Amino acid sequence: MPGLRLQPGVAGARKRAQAMRAAGRAAPAKPHHPEAFPRHRHDHKACVSDAVDAAADLCMRIGERFTPLRRRVLELVWSSHQPIGAYAILDKLREEGRAAAPPTVYRALDFLLAHGIVHRIASMNAFVGCTHPGEAHAVQFLICRGCGSAAEIDDDGLSTALARAADRVGFAVESRVIELAGLCAGCRAAAKATPAG
Ligand SMILES: [Zn+2]
Ligand SMILES: [Zn+2]
Ligand SMILES: [Zn+2]
Repeated sequence: MPGLRLQPGVAGARKRAQAMRAAGRAAPAKPHHPEAFPRHRHDHKACVSDAVDAAADLCMRIGERFTPLRRRVLELVWSSHQPIGAYAILDKLREEGRAAAPPTVYRALDFLLAHGIVHRIASMNAFVGCTHPGEAHAVQFLICRGCGSAAEIDDDGLSTALARAADRVGFAVESRVIELAGLCAGCRAAAKATPAG
């Protein structure tokens, strides 16, 4: 469609909504919160391909190379919505027979992190893919203890409130980690559906 520019993630969400309608299921009236937890059963391949497309796009825009290793590391981070540690990434690469030296893999991860293509979950020392890399956003995470998934809530109001609160006491913020633990809607629904005992 000329003149209509869609972000890969948005295009993917739209494609998924179309597929859902085609399958006779009611698509959500609006993407209620693109950063929120995905449904437990969803087309995760679409998540991965959206993420890889978005990263390739971003690298092209900023004139960086999206090397095969950077791409593979990103795909591994996106194996699921659960944060994954650097060691697990190294293990998976070894299983695939890629003789990637740890420092090379760490450099690839650093690159993805530096460009906001992945985020680091400090409390788990693990990484999770960003759903909209290349856009400036405040990041706060919800981490589900049920399914282990992490989801971004990118609430600028919250960031502004924190910045103001710090400023009031003359505090210069250097790093900011906001991670909330709990149960996602999918896990809460599953817990309700399965009677205890
Ligand atoms: Zn997914
Ligand atoms: Zn993000
Ligand atoms: Zn969950």
